[in-house]
Amino acid sequence: MVSIETQINDIVQRVLTQLEQAPPSSNGGSPRYRGIFSTIDSAMAAVELAQRRYYRVSIAQRKAIIQAIRNVSIDQAQEMAQMVVAETGMGRVADKVLKHLLVAEKTPGPEFLNPDAYVGDDGLMIEECAPFGTILAITPVTNPTATIINNTISMLSAGNTVFFAPHPNAIKSSIAMIDLINDAIVTAGGPDNLVVSLDTASIELVDQLMKHPKIALLSVTGGTGVVDVALQSGKRAIGAAAGNPPVLVDDTADPEKAARDIVAGHSFDNNMPCTSEKEVVMTEGIADRLLEAFTHANALVLDPKLLSSLEAVVLNDRRSGPNRKFIGQNACVILKEIGIQADEELRTIVVEVDKDHPFARHELMMPVLAVIRVPDFEAAVDLAVELEEGLHHSAIIHSANIYHMSEFGKAINTTLFVKNAPSYAGLGFGGEGYTSFTIAGRTGEGMTTCRTFTRFRRCSLVGAFSSV
Ligand code: NAD
Repeated sequence: MVSIETQINDIVQRVLTQLEQAPPSSNGGSPRYRGIFSTIDSAMAAVELAQRRYYRVSIAQRKAIIQAIRNVSIDQAQEMAQMVVAETGMGRVADKVLKHLLVAEKTPGPEFLNPDAYVGDDGLMIEECAPFGTILAITPVTNPTATIINNTISMLSAGNTVFFAPHPNAIKSSIAMIDLINDAIVTAGGPDNLVVSLDTASIELVDQLMKHPKIALLSVTGGTGVVDVALQSGKRAIGAAAGNPPVLVDDTADPEKAARDIVAGHSFDNNMPCTSEKEVVMTEGIADRLLEAFTHANALVLDPKLLSSLEAVVLNDRRSGPNRKFIGQNACVILKEIGIQADEELRTIVVEVDKDHPFARHELMMPVLAVIRVPDFEAAVDLAVELEEGLHHSAIIHSANIYHMSEFGKAINTTLFVKNAPSYAGLGFGGEGYTSFTIAGRTGEGMTTCRTFTRFRRCSLVGAFSSV
């Protein structure tokens, strides 16, 4: 029987070979990939030309282009998910497929750009959403291709073009995704190179791009450090930075449902989404029942005697964050390091710790879930707010008390607030509403959409206009 790993490697090899054998591009860019260039100057010249052409594309054609991007993203979801996992060595293929489908289907398109109109004695005024031009979109290793799809749909729907700066550890998959997107756009009759990138990735290149005079706007999806750099660049930046989403479980919650939902959200793609449950604050009245319920929900509750062994594996040397080697790994891979055998179906390792433990304080991005016991609801709110650290990112509550939900929501003040569901419901997955993979809690735009990537422009016509 061939192992899943071997099957995945075979598929990745096949896709890479197919891409390498793809016909040469006629756009002066990479001989193999549409939209990929070896210098900033050549990429910028191509995207500038594409932007000039895109200004003349009709709304109907813009919609057809966006639909073509959705279609190719859905068609290629499985292969791209496999490629990303093989290249980055992180995450779960099945979950990444779901992420691709989610962004392809639920990222809003041009229909989201309705103008505001005012009609009166003095005529007509409309406010329209106009494009910025070329946007530099910096993307993370944790969701490389799903973020590229989401950003492309949002930014192109608004009439912009995109210069992507992917994470170096996801460069191959990112290039493959950009190639597929450009190909779909051209096949749909749109201009070539609406989306460009470079054939190498480095922090130095990103720095040059951030300061480039032809970049109109920065969109940064990543850790706190890169968002800080972007905000100091002198350009307008939309900053989607890290979070440390706490879950509050109070005495009134259903422990079995709460445990199931928390494990589902926390372990989705091995805890790499910035929105995933990162630690649980539970009130004393439910704590023991919740811990018991975790054992029925595909999680392992760690024997406290093994805590120091687990710390030695998953924390970095300074205990100031994760050991990067284990980011996005399956729970069984982590457990193996401390001598426990488990299978790939096990989703989460639950560990009871005190409130100052590094598992609770730092974003680990792996299936290790800190749980902390507090005496009552008021203490739970205070601690959850402290652990979220004012990042304004995401928080979750499990409770049957609507006053508790409201009080926690006001106190925590996060961009996403999810009640009685896995965190991903807030992304529109099993919850209402559209999706975004660039959640600008830091700079306040929230769940970014095409509207976020527009300039508001006013146009006034004075004189009798209304026929009413
Ligand atoms: P990262 O910060 O290491 O890298 C993100 C991107 O920034 C990459 O393309 C990287 O090459 C670039 N970069 C990093 N440091 C830079 C610097 N000094 N100058 C210029 N470019 C730099 O993050 P990651 O490991 O790729 O992604 C995980 C992080 O992103 C987590 O903290 C997660 O919470 C966050 N994230 C946030 C959102 C959101 O919507 N708020 C979405 C996904 C991920």
